[in-house]
Amino acid sequence: MDPSSSRSAEGDSAAHARPAYQPAWTHGREHAVTTALTGEHPDPATDEVGRVRPLRVVRGADEPDLVAAERAAFAFLAALGVELDTESLSATPARMARAYAELFTPRPFDLTTFPNDAGYDELIIARSIPVHSVCEHHLLPFIGVAHVGYLPGDRILGLSKLARVVELFARRPQVQERLTQQIADWLRENVAPRGVGVVVEAEHLCMTVRGVRATNTSTVTSALHGQLRNDASSRAEFFSIVAPSRATS
Ligand SMILES: [Zn+2]
Repeated sequence: MDPSSSRSAEGDSAAHARPAYQPAWTHGREHAVTTALTGEHPDPATDEVGRVRPLRVVRGADEPDLVAAERAAFAFLAALGVELDTESLSATPARMARAYAELFTPRPFDLTTFPNDAGYDELIIARSIPVHSVCEHHLLPFIGVAHVGYLPGDRILGLSKLARVVELFARRPQVQERLTQQIADWLRENVAPRGVGVVVEAEHLCMTVRGVRATNTSTVTSALHGQLRNDASSRAEFFSIVAPSRATS
């Protein structure tokens, strides 16, 4: 029953014979996270009569191996001297495995876009979208908010989808700079707006509970594309709308 016993039974040569560990969130994941058409037409936005067909943003094919993760969590905690043979701790390795699996798994969603019939050409911004991610260097959470804006082109996006795009890239081991860039790149590629702006403000537990122990330190990152990057007044307008959450805190 001891989950760590399998390791000693297998020995080092068996460990070497195993295929290389290939977690689901390795950097190829962006390619595994596909925007699959729900129909068979090549145009992702509309069908032959112009109706909107949503894109289903799906997870990669690799499901987490919770049994192996629990076994590894048991060995990890035991190696750190955590006594696991009490009633309250006996299920901790399994809970830990499920918790990290959840943190590394974005929920699938339909990317619904609509024709920009009204020709709306001003900024659309969702402010203070929650960000729950995990730093890839320490596997400790970083938590904060994202402000995501775009200047629409021919299509506009369901507003709730901006939060789902943030989650798509937050739910994996991450660094904040890459997270910010990936959100902006994804919107540019999938919505084809005239401009995209993303600002992420987050507190990293690896900075506040260990290491330098810099409490109340937030890290701010931004990524801009198109008109929000190149046009000074658009850029200034974006930051003036996004800034109050920092200025008033
Ligand atoms: Zn860290």
